Amino acid sequence: MIVVMESGATAEQIEHMAEAVRRLGLRASVIEGTERTVIAAIGEKRADMMESLASGPGVAAVMPIAAPYKLASREVRPDPSCVRVGEFAAGAGAVGVIAGPCSVESEEQIMSAARAVKAAGATALRGGAFKPRTSPYSFQGMKEEGLKLMAAAREETGLAVVTEVMGTDDVELVARYADVLQVGARNMQNYRLLEAVGGAGRPVLLKRGPSATMDEFLLAAEYILNEGNDQLMLCERGIRTFEGHTRFTLPLASISYLHRKTHLPVVIDPSHGTGHTYMVPDLAYAAIAAGADGLMVEVHPSPETALSDGYQSLDFAGFEAMMARCRRVAEAVDQELVGSTVPAS
Ligand code: PEP
Ligand code: MN
Repeated sequence: MIVVMESGATAEQIEHMAEAVRRLGLRASVIEGTERTVIAAIGEKRADMMESLASGPGVAAVMPIAAPYKLASREVRPDPSCVRVGEFAAGAGAVGVIAGPCSVESEEQIMSAARAVKAAGATALRGGAFKPRTSPYSFQGMKEEGLKLMAAAREETGLAVVTEVMGTDDVELVARYADVLQVGARNMQNYRLLEAVGGAGRPVLLKRGPSATMDEFLLAAEYILNEGNDQLMLCERGIRTFEGHTRFTLPLASISYLHRKTHLPVVIDPSHGTGHTYMVPDLAYAAIAAGADGLMVEVHPSPETALSDGYQSLDFAGFEAMMARCRRVAEAVDQELVGSTVPAS
């Protein structure tokens, strides 16, 4: 349930009510909105609890939270949340672009990609060092060596580093180098991993499982939020359907739906979502027009020689052209493409 405080409630009254919630054996999460503060009371509720809290000082109302996900719900936090890392921002009017290769392959590859995506206006660098591959015989990533190269690319460019963590054993290692921990589609319901990244002290990008429903997606997000980490982005990367003309089917309706149900920023991945380089820009424009808070795009210096996902990667010129148009689309829908000022060359 949520305890909605009156708009003029004092800090003492808010703390008093948070303590009252805790005394009932519930977790209290204080969320300051633009209009008023609410306290989310998470845990098993009993019928008498609502009445006893409703009579507290400075309380406007006590209401049940209808959604099965509590902390992710917009009922609890009506204002959109924003994830910020360095110059990267996504949510609450800011559109952040995360770009880079599918996998880190070499120093030269990641450095040149970092420079190119930065120059085109991206504010975060993607690159997998631990790669979830369908076949055990495919390239599995450079592991810690790849993480070191990503950190070096951040050093030079200032881009925030976004990289996947595949298992609980690797969370500490990846968190040492990364700015944002990515939980991949295949791991969306790996609950131990969700708890571990929730407690790792880094922002998280959670990708939707290819066969997960929206409720399952939001309940997976809830695991991360429940560890006290509210720096969380949701990434729609396409789902599996009967359709074969795209690698996955990318439902852009997820943007509107998620914005209605949750305050969390929504990032669209048109690379995995389509599986074809030529489709990526169109879906990126459509995503921004539909209100996406961010994009995650695969960019490679030489897509035809990439060790993974070259067929859906943009080259540098393609990315630059896409960004120029994304900027115009963002402007048209009153969104701000963060880092959109391209340095003069
Ligand atoms: C990725 O972003 O590199 C990736 C593996 O994506 P997904 O988990 O969405 O398949
Ligand atoms: Mn990929």
